Amino acid sequence: MHSKILKIANGDSFPVRWLKCELGGFGLVVTILLPSIFTNCRMTQKTKAVADRKETSQANDPIVIHRRAIAIDMHADTTQRLLDEQLDISRRLSDGHFDSVRAREGGLDAQFFSIWVEPELFGGGGAGAMKRAEDQIAVVRALPDRYPETWDLATTSADIRRIAAAGKLAALMGLEGGYAIDERLENVQRYHQMGVRYMSPAWSVSTSWAGSSNDEVGQTRGLNNFGKSVIREMNRLGMMVDVSHVSDKTFWDIINTSSKPIIATHSGCRAIVNVPRNLDDEMIRAIAKGGGVVCVLFYPAFLEPGWDDKKKRVDAEIASLVQKASEEESGSIAHKRIARDRVRREEYAKRLPRTSLSRLVDHIDHIAKLVGVDYVGVGSDFDGVQSTLSDLATVEDLPNLTRELLRRGYNESNVEKILGGNVLRVMEEVQK
Ligand SMILES: [Zn+2]
Repeated sequence: MHSKILKIANGDSFPVRWLKCELGGFGLVVTILLPSIFTNCRMTQKTKAVADRKETSQANDPIVIHRRAIAIDMHADTTQRLLDEQLDISRRLSDGHFDSVRAREGGLDAQFFSIWVEPELFGGGGAGAMKRAEDQIAVVRALPDRYPETWDLATTSADIRRIAAAGKLAALMGLEGGYAIDERLENVQRYHQMGVRYMSPAWSVSTSWAGSSNDEVGQTRGLNNFGKSVIREMNRLGMMVDVSHVSDKTFWDIINTSSKPIIATHSGCRAIVNVPRNLDDEMIRAIAKGGGVVCVLFYPAFLEPGWDDKKKRVDAEIASLVQKASEEESGSIAHKRIARDRVRREEYAKRLPRTSLSRLVDHIDHIAKLVGVDYVGVGSDFDGVQSTLSDLATVEDLPNLTRELLRRGYNESNVEKILGGNVLRVMEEVQK
C-alpha cells in the first residue's frame, strides 16, 4: 500500500493519519480502521482522548511525515546499470544504491534518471554520443512496459502527482552534459520530445559551447552564442537548465541568458567544501533570486571537508589495482568502467572515513539560512558515485533524511518542500 493514495483521497483527515501508521504491510489496516469509523460516529470522550493523543504522535512521526511528502530525487545514474548490466530493478539488488524495492521502502515517489554520456568513452558529440544517450533513454522509457505495476513515465509535475497518487514510482530523465545534442539546436527539441526534462550543458569535459568545472579550458569558457541559443531553446521548450558541473563563467552566462528558473540537480556548498563542483553563496543567491532550486547531492567528496583530498590520495595508492581490473575485463568500454568502479568502491569502503547524513543536512541548512527553505532540494547521485553516506547509503535510507531535518527544527511543510515540493514548483514554472 502506498500512502499517497490515502493522502489524495482524504487530505489530512483523521482516518488517513491512522492508516498511515501502517508502514510495512496490510496487517494493521483492519485494526486501525476501526477508530476512524468511531470518529465518524459518536465517540465516547475516552475514545476521543486516546484518538487525539495518537493523532498527535502520528503527526510528529518522521516516517509518517516522510510518506506524506512527495519525494523527488533529481539525479541517479542507475540508467547506465540498466543498460550495461541489464539489471532487473524489480527485485532487491545486493549491490548499488537503487532498485524499485528499496525506492519504495525509502518512500521515494519520483526519480530523475541521468542520461549520461561519458565523453572519454562515447565522444563529446557525433553519432557515438547520440546513440549512447538514446540507448539510455530507451531503457528508461521501457520501465513502465517492463514493470507496469511499479513504474510510470512522467514529464510534468502533474504527472508526478498523479503517479504518486496511484501508488507508483515516476520515472523522469535529465541529460547530464550536452554532448549528445551534437552541437545542433534541433536536437534539444528531439530529446525534449523523447521525454528529457533537464540538461546540464557540460559534465566533466567542456563542450565547444559551454565550460566544465572540471577541466582547464572550463576555467575561462562560458557560453558562446550557440550555447546561449541552447539555453533559450530549453526555455522555450520547458526543459530545465541544470548548472551542476558547469564552470563558473558558464554558470553566470546561464544566469544572464535564461528567462526561466534554473536548477542545480546535484551540487553542494563551497561555503562548507570549497571545490569547483560546488556552488558559492553568490551562485546560490542568484538561483534563488530567479526562483530556481539547489538540490544537494549525497556524495561525501563534496559534503565533508577534507574527504576529497583523502580520496585523491587513495586513488593514487590504488591506481594499479584499478588499471589491472580494467585490463582483465574483456567486455565493452562501459564494462571496463564498471570493473574500475567496482575496485574503487571496495577500496574506498576499506580506506576512507564514513560521513554521516548530518553533514548533508549542514549543506541543506546553509542554503535554507542563506536564501530560504523554498530553494533547496535533493539529488542523490546514487549509482554515480563509489561512496555514499553511512546512514544514507542507498535510496532505502531516505527516511533518515526526514528524521534529521525534523530533529534540526524543520517542520512538516519545510520537509515537504525540501523533499520535492520546491522541484514541483520549478517544473511548473519552467513548463508554463
Ligand atoms: Zn554528475
